[in-house]
Amino acid sequence: MILLKTKEEIELIRKSAALLGNTIAEVGRHIRPGVTTAFLDQIGEQYIRDNGGIPLCKGVAGEIKPFPAACCISVNDEVVHGIPSERFVEEGDIVSVDIVVDLNGYVSDSCYTFMVGQVSSEMQRLCRVTKESLYIGLDKCKAGNRVGDIGHAVQLHCEKNGYNVVRELCGHGVGLKMHESPNVPNFGVPGTGPLLKEGMVIAVEPMVCMGSKNVKFSSDDGWTVRTKDGKPAAHYEHTVAITANGPDILTSFDAIEKVAESLH
Ligand code: MG
Repeated sequence: MILLKTKEEIELIRKSAALLGNTIAEVGRHIRPGVTTAFLDQIGEQYIRDNGGIPLCKGVAGEIKPFPAACCISVNDEVVHGIPSERFVEEGDIVSVDIVVDLNGYVSDSCYTFMVGQVSSEMQRLCRVTKESLYIGLDKCKAGNRVGDIGHAVQLHCEKNGYNVVRELCGHGVGLKMHESPNVPNFGVPGTGPLLKEGMVIAVEPMVCMGSKNVKFSSDDGWTVRTKDGKPAAHYEHTVAITANGPDILTSFDAIEKVAESLH
């Protein structure tokens, strides 16, 4: 069942989203060669809790173990759900920081892929095209369109630039819980799928591979998703409310991009 949110609820999700954007920016501020992803996770968790929020990824049940951290931090060929660890961030890495925040019962979800220092031009292009595909998908977030319109727009932009979208993972409804209906795939056929209605809140999140679309799920931790060919993947995500006039993007990259620009 798709939960429609009232205007008041959407304003409360917007507050959650503001905390989330500031959290990702705060994590980004600490990204540099030589820090561990576990350290970045601590920064994110502390910031969320200091500001009255709850990091919802922590403790989510998994096939092998619950997700142990507040932030999903995925480096290079890791697509999503990277577990923070003693791994060092290195010059030339791309680091995706994906966080879900609950503030006063209202839930937002966002991800940003940071480039660390001198990143190859191929990886810079991957990040740029993935972010473009997010906004192209968001443009379709209008009452009367269908979920397939979003996925089709994302897929088309990525494929025409020579990239591939992951099939096994997708965006989703969000706002009162971390994962609500409907699923929002990053591929699709225009005019198909659930109808977008005013009051729907969804997370749109292109996960885009430089090489083949195939991914593998870690058999060690049950969480980390990597590209099968070892090539890099990028991931950008916003939480958006559907209105009659188009997308009302609740999360923001404004604070994050001020930080991101200083990283390279
Ligand atoms: Mg998400």
